[in-house]
Amino acid sequence: MSQFKTIRDVDVTGRRVFVRVDFNVPLTPEGEVADDWRIEAALPTIRYLIEHRARVILGSHLGRPKGDPEKDARLRMDAVARRLARLLEQPVLKADDVVGPDAREKAGSLKDGEVLLLENLRFHPGEKAGDDAFARELAGLADVYANDAFGTAHRKDASVYVVPRFFPEGRRVAGLLLDRELTVLGQLTTQPDRPYAAVLGGAKVSDKLGVIRALALKVDKLLIGGAMAYTFRLARGYKVGSSLVELDFVDEARRLLREAGDRLVLPEDHVVAERPEAGAATQVCEGDFPDGWSGVDIGPKTRVRFAELIKEAATAVWNGPMGKFEDEPFRAGTEAVARALAECHGVTVVGGGETAEAVRRFGLADRLTHVSTGGGAFLKYLEGATLPALEVLDPA
Ligand code: ADP
Ligand code: MG
Repeated sequence: MSQFKTIRDVDVTGRRVFVRVDFNVPLTPEGEVADDWRIEAALPTIRYLIEHRARVILGSHLGRPKGDPEKDARLRMDAVARRLARLLEQPVLKADDVVGPDAREKAGSLKDGEVLLLENLRFHPGEKAGDDAFARELAGLADVYANDAFGTAHRKDASVYVVPRFFPEGRRVAGLLLDRELTVLGQLTTQPDRPYAAVLGGAKVSDKLGVIRALALKVDKLLIGGAMAYTFRLARGYKVGSSLVELDFVDEARRLLREAGDRLVLPEDHVVAERPEAGAATQVCEGDFPDGWSGVDIGPKTRVRFAELIKEAATAVWNGPMGKFEDEPFRAGTEAVARALAECHGVTVVGGGETAEAVRRFGLADRLTHVSTGGGAFLKYLEGATLPALEVLDPA
């Protein structure tokens, strides 16, 4: 149970329900949907509304439009609408504007059980600006507001933060995906079963500092991999060759090492490559890295150690790849962590754009308790920050 009213708590039959979804999907060079898992994740909400004979109006952003109609044309929602129609096995209407005449006309003539997808919300400058007038117009299309876009919950964009204010109390609810995200993530923050292990990786310490600090106080083991491990390694006095490091954060890393003590588990060995690209010579390194070589993955001993700690956890959360996993030769560490999570009998939660992608690429997503659709929002939530989009929903 999450702390917000959901679409189940409001009468939606015959009503126009605006759902802020996260259809920010990757596209192929031809402009087709390359990966539809975010669309799939929103289907329970959309199906529920169709079954309950609501008039469904969906809105999402897609990519980062620059305001140049020609360049932005590939960010139109048509391909997404086509994919959604295929997944729903029913027609999906598509508006060619966000709050313009086409959207108003199509929203106004929707029938019970029909679905309309608005044009890319970010085509309207009012979306990113959190503009009141734009939000009022968008709200004017519908009778009920539902948010199902956890991935943008940390932002103050109009469609997540301002639009709900134009709906009466009791009609600003969470969708089923948002509800599930908050229910599962809530388990991580309030009395998680122990031992509780967190695995953090990815490119930069600076991106993850807040979450490292917050988790260091909560978990029993905080495993650090990925490129950010090299800043810690530097803080311990080792040479890291040409690895990605953030010199500005070495002091902070030293402080964290001191404060977190043996809860913080750093890799004992690393895979280093002569150049950080597939095909380069590699070796496993336990001490100083050779001059000019770069760390690209956690080493074999570390994979075993991390897997042990993950498998014995009652709660495990993971964000950030263990290495440059996009290159096949540097994938083993990330895959070992993903497999250990799949084999863990506790609650297992993964979040972050690249991390979720890795888990799906290994075919392991179904073996985890939850793969979050959030990246930045997921990290903010784990930090304990309040997410703006949640402040404006009606409490349960
Ligand atoms: P997420 O999107 O899951 O939050 P991040 O964006 O923080 O993850 O980091 C993902 C990126 O980190 C990946 O593209 C990966 O290639 C990179 N990365 C991880 N470890 C290394 C490394 N040792 N060297 C270079 N890049 C790395
Ligand atoms: Mg990322």
